[in-house]
Formats: sequence, structure tokens, C-alpha cells
Amino acid sequence: MKPFDPIESLANVRHEFGEHGGVNLSVEQSTTFTVMHPETMPDIFHGDTGPKQGCYLYGRHFNPTVHVLGRQLAAMEGTEAAYCTASGMGAISALIQHLCDHGDHIVSSHTVYGGTFALFKNMLPKNNNVHTTFVNLQNLAEVEAAFTDRTKVLYVEAMSNPTLEVADIPALAEIAHRHGAQLVVDNTFTPLIMAPARMGADVVVHSLTKFVGGASDVIAGAICGTEDLIAGLMDVNHGTLMLYGPTMDPRVAFNLSLRIPHLGIRVTEHSRRALTFAERLEARGVKVIYPGLPSHSGHALLDRLRHPEFGFGGLFGVDLGTMERANRFMDLLQNRDRFGFIAVSLGYFETLLSCSAGSTSSELDPEAQVEAGISQGLVRISIGYTGSLEQRWAQFADALDVLEKEEAQLTH
Ligand code: PLP
Repeated sequence: MKPFDPIESLANVRHEFGEHGGVNLSVEQSTTFTVMHPETMPDIFHGDTGPKQGCYLYGRHFNPTVHVLGRQLAAMEGTEAAYCTASGMGAISALIQHLCDHGDHIVSSHTVYGGTFALFKNMLPKNNNVHTTFVNLQNLAEVEAAFTDRTKVLYVEAMSNPTLEVADIPALAEIAHRHGAQLVVDNTFTPLIMAPARMGADVVVHSLTKFVGGASDVIAGAICGTEDLIAGLMDVNHGTLMLYGPTMDPRVAFNLSLRIPHLGIRVTEHSRRALTFAERLEARGVKVIYPGLPSHSGHALLDRLRHPEFGFGGLFGVDLGTMERANRFMDLLQNRDRFGFIAVSLGYFETLLSCSAGSTSSELDPEAQVEAGISQGLVRISIGYTGSLEQRWAQFADALDVLEKEEAQLTH
């Protein structure tokens, strides 16, 4: 069978024209929708008819513009359906509370985004009596041993934040399914590069705030899965999306739908630059973490699982040993060399730099950080594509030179 190609799949999505034939879809900026026949209304409430039949009810339920973006994301991930949310955390928290009842259990990778970690470690036990066992995904025996008869979800990031470990999705899906659980994969770091649902994942979640948005201007998320899953999440009596209401605004959906067509071009360029920097840094003797390098523990696995066109991703890490060194290096890069910004987040057209231990992974206590392999001096770099590659490399190398010179002076 021909492997799944997200770009071809996207090209097969019905193109939605604007109300007057515009090449882009219209923004349906309405919170409520008319029905032509009053009898239709109860059918929509019961879920017997809906967006597929062109019937809309209320903006927190479904909106035509948001629905089109959902169709694009479902095509990209190779799932039956998708629903777009106001944020990545809105997607993750609504999904998990849908999949887990009071007393249920989650097995999660110990290297997940700090917000997800805090949700699992702090909120779910307190509010839902749902407990999580955190495991090292690289040890499949440890993953399997963590399952209980109440485990409903195995939760992983396709590429982990910030250590860039690669999840063996086919093997993890097999374990989850053997225990009657669902594999949920956060694919925020690797859109197009990985298609987890085509490797056995049951649900794929995204923070669209990152690479898909690409401009650091909107917060957004998505849940991609079966039609039954989305219908359940949207159920008017029990659906966590319907009742918690992390709804995406149609203007945001319109905006994002215009960025999907060039996502592949952007991801390819992010990856090309990340690989060039990683190779040069490794040659210079800097400790660099990038799955595109054969020295990375996840390299062979990612090479086997990825779509070959989009590279190995737009993030790499530089381990400078201590937080002081990491901070000085970021200071030089931003304030002396104008290389990028000291800011959290990723997938932006400019480079974003953050010291993970003191920022996006600070929800993990020091012990959990050590367990997750997050060094105090790890600078996470989401490489941008403005300026030329050589100009940006010269800036980066200059900051490294200055850092090393300053340290040499101190030791004399
Ligand atoms: N998942 C990952 C891997 C993330 O990095 C983030 C945010 O940084 C999230 C989820 C949460 O997304 P959002 O900020 O859109 O709520």
C-alpha cells in the first residue's frame, strides 16, 4: 500500500469558496444559525443531523468556518474528523476528561509539555480522581508495566518537549490496545513529519499555536480522531467540548486555514536550517540535541517513521551545562547579535530561545526534570527562517565565540 501522504490528502479536501465565489472561504461570524424547518432543531440537538448535512445550531457547537479548518486538519492527520479549539490545552484537557471517568488511570511519558504535566499531576487527581503514572517511553517494558485495569489512556508527544525524544508510535499503540486503552499523541512538534493516526494512534492533538499558525499571533488547538469521538465530545448532555466550551473563533479558523497550504514549505525550511545548525555545532564540539543527527538516540526511529520530505523538525537543543551559561548565551543572541528572541513557544518564523528548566518545563520539580533528562543549561531553539542561513549562522557562531572568550578571561 502507498504510504500516507498528508500533502496529497490535503489536496483532496473539497475547496470551500467564499459566499460570492471568492477563492477563499467566507468567515461565518455568527453565534447562532437559522434552520429552514423548525423540525430540524431537535434533530441537531440529538446529533442526528449536523455540519455534514449543512445544519448548524450554535457557535459553541459547530461553526461552518471552524468546521472547514477541522476538515483540513483531519486530512493532514489522516483521521475521519477533527475539531478545532481555542488552545492546545483546551483540546488536551477536554479530550482527557472525555476519555477518563472518575477513578481511571493514565500512563504518560515523563517528557511532556509542562502544562500537560501539571494537568495530569495536579488537576486531574484533585478534581477527577484520575491518576497518572509517568514513564520513560524509551523503555517499553516500563511503559507496559505501568498499565492497570483502570488505564484508559497512554499519552505521549510524537517528539517530546524539550528533549526531542521520538515516540515509537506503532509499538506504543500495540501496547495500549492490548490493555484496552487508547493511544493519544500530541503532534505539535512534528506536523506533516509524522502522521501518528496512520501508525496506530487513536487520537492526535495539536497546539496550532506553534508550527501550524507559524506567526505567533494566535492561540489555537485541535483534536483529530474518529467521527464518533468528535460527536461524543460535542454531545449536548455530556460532551466536554460542548460543556467546557473551549471554542475556536471563526476569524481564527479562517486565518489558520490560509496557512495550511504553505505549512509544508515552512516545515521543510525550519528542518533544513535546524539540521545545518546541528551539524555545524556538533562539528564544533558543542553538545547539541537534534534527532536529525545520527548521534541522537531517536534518529533511526524517526527516520523510519517520518515522511521523508519534511526533514527532522525545526527544534534543536544546545546543552550549555548551567543556567547561567544558558542565560548569558541567550542574552548575547538576542541583545548583541539580533539572532532571535528570548521567548517561549515555537514554530515562529523568527527564532525563539528558551531555557527549558526555568520556563516551559518549570512545572516539573527538579527531580522530575532530572528524570526527564532536562539539564539546567539546556537552551531550546525553535529555528526561524528569516534572513539568510549564513547570516544567521554567523550571528550564532559570534555569540558562541563571545561566550567562550568571556569564560577564558574569567579563568585567567
Ligand atoms: N502541547 C505542546 C507540545 C506544547 O508545546 C504546548 C504549548 O507550548 C501545548 C501543547 C499547549 O498549547 P497551547 O499553548 O496552544 O494551549
